[in-house]
Amino acid sequence: MKNDYAAEPYRIKAVEPIKKTTRDKRETLLENAGYNPFALKSEDVYIDLLTDSGTGAMSDRQWGALMQGDEAYAGSKSFFRLEGVVQHITQYKYFIPTHQGRGAEQVALPYFVKKEGMAFISNMHFDTTRAHVELTGARAIDCVIEECFDTSTYHPFKGNFDLKKLRRIIEERGAENIAGIITTITNNSSGGQPVSLENQMAVRNIADEYNIPLIIDGARHAENAYFIKQREKGYEDESVLNITRKQLALGDIFLMSAKKDGLVNMGGVIAIKDDEALYEYCRTRIVPLEGFPTYGGMSGRDMEAMAVGLEEALDEEYLRHRIDQVRYLGDRLRKAGVPIQYPTGGHAVFVDCKAIAPHIPYHQFPAQSVVNALYLETGVRAVEIGSFLLGRDPDTKENLQSPLEFMRLTIPRRTYTYKHLDVVAEGVVKVYQNRDKLRGLTFTYEPPVLRHFTAKLKPL
Ligand SMILES: *Cc1c(COP(=O)(O)O)cnc(C)c1O
Repeated sequence: MKNDYAAEPYRIKAVEPIKKTTRDKRETLLENAGYNPFALKSEDVYIDLLTDSGTGAMSDRQWGALMQGDEAYAGSKSFFRLEGVVQHITQYKYFIPTHQGRGAEQVALPYFVKKEGMAFISNMHFDTTRAHVELTGARAIDCVIEECFDTSTYHPFKGNFDLKKLRRIIEERGAENIAGIITTITNNSSGGQPVSLENQMAVRNIADEYNIPLIIDGARHAENAYFIKQREKGYEDESVLNITRKQLALGDIFLMSAKKDGLVNMGGVIAIKDDEALYEYCRTRIVPLEGFPTYGGMSGRDMEAMAVGLEEALDEEYLRHRIDQVRYLGDRLRKAGVPIQYPTGGHAVFVDCKAIAPHIPYHQFPAQSVVNALYLETGVRAVEIGSFLLGRDPDTKENLQSPLEFMRLTIPRRTYTYKHLDVVAEGVVKVYQNRDKLRGLTFTYEPPVLRHFTAKLKPL
């Protein structure tokens, strides 16, 4: 393990105390939470790796910008400032702010569904994207390369589309039945895995060939661009901003959760390259769903912070440290023999729980069992990305089997130190060493959609 992890490119100006709990206390807390850490109070969590969504630290520049928020209902100065930044980065014509990524999804996605029986194809749909696709009545089909499911073998771009499969699905269903192709960068659900520019270009060519719209789900476009710079031949000397522009130039519409690479706690983006009809559709729909088009779902001050955050997220020193933190945690776990999605991606370490707990079948949620054990061990909160999250088949109502059962250790941006990651690593290694004791789970309460947020479970 070469110690070449970048040091923090910032110093700390404000601190937020966190506190440890005892194992006895955590036993009770977890039982009361229905063995679902989403129901824990954050003050009962020592190190919170539930998500990188909206959990990052803002910079002094962002806190300063907040004060300049223009809270006008219509035509806010802060809107125009943010619009300028979004146009500068995306080089798209139109911009509408939303309260977060799913706000952008609910406004824009129905536009593409012109009739019954349509489908979206993505390298991998994020869970809210899948939910919004299904709410339109369309199907969500994933189409990532096979290498993505082989966690132990190195591949630089495990988020890539399987291009042959993409073509086959289009041919089989008929291009007129494909509502859109969604490129998710980075591919959150498979490990924050990047998509190469070469692959993104090939997807654009296929979309053109069949006349299918291309939607970019770009919550982590900056992290994806950084990986392209690191791993793809020909881009070593390009700026991350330029690479980002090349990625976005391939899309017709860009939907973004700004809670990721927007470096804010709340916010979202709809940006449209030039399709006026699509823009008119979104601008009409945003009013009842999110708000007037110059604030969408955001306050003026939050738009100011986001304008700064979108630029800071493209800073290469920042990105290097960010990605190195993830790599560091991954390296520590691998050194101890813990199976993870390798190489590590942009925002989290994904621990392969199918490999850790092969004795727990998918419908008893092996990764959720590991997540719970980690909380009991150290007070660290992680999250399950597997069959518990995936839910049920909309037709048969059977539990779907996820090809991967992950515990995601998600690193918030600019929030924790390498020493915190040591604590996390030690906890995971202990759980791994006691893996024979892990037990499956069953529902005591199961909601009909997005069940992982509110379900209650009990150990078998
Ligand atoms: C987080 C995320 C979303 C949804 O965004 P929210 O801000 O959580 O509503 C959509 N797609 C991807 C890839 C995401 O990571």
